[in-house]
Amino acid sequence: MNFSEAKARHAELVEQIRRHDHAYYVLAKPTVSDAEYDRLYRELADLEKLHPELFTPDSPTQRVGGQPASEFKSLTHGVPMLSLDNTYSHEEVREFVGRVQKLLPGENLEWVVEPKIDGLAVNLRYEAGVLVAGATRGDGARGDDITANLRTIRSVPLKLTAPHGRRAALPAVIEVRGEVYLPLAGFQKLNAERVAAGEEAFVNPRNAAAGSLKQLDPALVAKRPLDIVLYGVGQVVAHPDELFPSGGREDGGAALDVGSQVELLEWLAARGFKTPERTWVCRSPEELLAALHELDQLRRGFRYETDGAVIKLNAFAQRARCGFTSKAPRWAMAYKFAAEQAETKLKAITVQVGRTGALTPVAELEPVFVGGSTVSRATLHNEDELRRKDIRIGDTVVIEKAGEVIPAVVRVVTEKRTGREQVFEFPKTCPECGSPVARASGTDPDDAGVVWRCVNPDCPAQARGRIEHWCARGAMDIEGGGEVLVAQLVKQGLVRDVAELYTLKLEEVAALERMAEKSARNFLEGVAASKSRDLWRLVFGLGIFHVGSTVAKALCRAFPNLDELAAAGPDQLKNADDIGEVIAASVQEWFGDSRNRALIERLRKAGLNFNSALYQPQAAAGLFAGKTFVLTGTLPTLSREEATAKIEALGGKASGSVSKKTDYVLAGADAGSKLEKARTLGVRVIDEVEFQRLCGS
Ligand code: NAD
Repeated sequence: MNFSEAKARHAELVEQIRRHDHAYYVLAKPTVSDAEYDRLYRELADLEKLHPELFTPDSPTQRVGGQPASEFKSLTHGVPMLSLDNTYSHEEVREFVGRVQKLLPGENLEWVVEPKIDGLAVNLRYEAGVLVAGATRGDGARGDDITANLRTIRSVPLKLTAPHGRRAALPAVIEVRGEVYLPLAGFQKLNAERVAAGEEAFVNPRNAAAGSLKQLDPALVAKRPLDIVLYGVGQVVAHPDELFPSGGREDGGAALDVGSQVELLEWLAARGFKTPERTWVCRSPEELLAALHELDQLRRGFRYETDGAVIKLNAFAQRARCGFTSKAPRWAMAYKFAAEQAETKLKAITVQVGRTGALTPVAELEPVFVGGSTVSRATLHNEDELRRKDIRIGDTVVIEKAGEVIPAVVRVVTEKRTGREQVFEFPKTCPECGSPVARASGTDPDDAGVVWRCVNPDCPAQARGRIEHWCARGAMDIEGGGEVLVAQLVKQGLVRDVAELYTLKLEEVAALERMAEKSARNFLEGVAASKSRDLWRLVFGLGIFHVGSTVAKALCRAFPNLDELAAAGPDQLKNADDIGEVIAASVQEWFGDSRNRALIERLRKAGLNFNSALYQPQAAAGLFAGKTFVLTGTLPTLSREEATAKIEALGGKASGSVSKKTDYVLAGADAGSKLEKARTLGVRVIDEVEFQRLCGS
């Protein structure tokens, strides 16, 4: 490859990786497998090594993770949270050991192998043994403040246990790091519920855990069976009574009386943290490879998805001498187990039309056993993806599936082409109703220009999708209104939209194929019962872009009835909790459409409930709504947890760090740097007496 080719390829890779990062970190909807992402990433890194002049400081190879999501306040980590270099090859594990040995010539090296838990990295900050803040990794320097959500996880200690009751044994500050995950059983259950509620399934447990922790309502998070494993520390400031020198580096230990990873895990376990259930200590590359092999055998029995192993130098003193690159420590490496792959024939490509009219190409495959199950279909995402991979009908393709991940077509085995393969012509009209399809989508900026949509609102496929969604358990919860019945109702022309469900007659339903009178009666009873459902179910059931059940509930807390919601302007909508620009625009657009307004009128005539039982007038939103408090020092009577509970009960937020956005710093005895910071920034400082007065008690 000459320089100008390398330059073009570099630009292409940067752009592709940027798109994948957005899909993965921001939308939590990756469109390629991790293994494929890692291949692109590796190609980019290799290209930069070969042509250092292509390297730019904002290249994806220099950055950790994604951007913090804007809905949450961001928190700066005491010490940055890094990523890990990764490999899929035994050879590179040996090379890694060689590299570290070169940095530490002549020294004996000891390695710890831990399972690599496929969850979401978080940072828990404890001050004087009490959990004060919790954040996601974010961009490494700053993450999202998800303290309230992390508190709902039972295995996150709110207070640390001091061994033998020695208060002094707890550091003044400690950041403990680990992985929040959704156990596999919980993941499967959650996905089944989402599908039943007409929502999209999560592609893997890591996305499900990330999606759960990014819920804005901690009550919803509490319902997910999240769990946590801790394996590291960030900033540590020793208790003043302790003799250990103070410090603070990722790898930690400097200010704790521990000198190695093995001791750190013991230290954490003794303070009430869950640590990896199985670890290995190895002294040579051979021992490392044997441990990786053993882990591979055991991991299917773990409660969480494990996508590999993390190999870490055991001794902290040696780690300190190895140091870090801009994004990862030099003393650690992730070894990933290759996703299972299999070859199969692609028999056909079909196009599915969803309820929003989106056309999704689907690979119909010769059934093949891979990654623990038989796969006969795989999504091809969209036309661009299909073109990029040049997938043709009749091709032999490589399918990849890792654990619980949805199967993907990785590539075509071009060597096996016979010349008889056919290029797939992406339909220019809707395969269901023949109407034109269009690419621009005003309402959904995330897929604008990529997804083709059928423009006909009366398209039977869309109608079926909308009616099924309306009947789903999470929406209007109409028993029996599943795929089969809905397809028949639409096919017979009995129901064209959700309002027509309410004019159905028993004879009509009972006359359908394979429909007993009893089932028809049950179904119609379900339809009748749905008239009095709470308004948020109806709003969710309408299938407005970006309005899932959580958003529907938020809207129904802010508006007393459907008419006020329909008439609301953008500012009124954005006033509701959790509603931003995009959702507000989407809601307005929906209610602005005359067809939709006519549908609402027909639903009104059918006698559906338009009043919200969730409605909370503004005044009740809480004395401290929108106010942020930071606690520091020891209060005379209230514990930190009690004070936090009071703040949250009145609608306020308790945060771990003082910034210009802080409204009050609640300070007690021995308050430290936060108090100083509050004074420098001019943030109002109050004591417990004044706090109680503000609370009205
Ligand atoms: P990573 O997942 O490869 O590994 C680093 C992370 O492992 C750490 O930050 C930590 O959170 C976690 N971890 C789990 N167990 C651990 C243990 N015992 N000790 C230490 N750390 C442990 O790297 P990443 O930076 O979190 O994410 C990058 C990866 O995400 C990519 O390599 C790719 O696989 C995936 N990704 C995929 C897409 C996609 O489109 N499919 C897009 C972006 C990123």
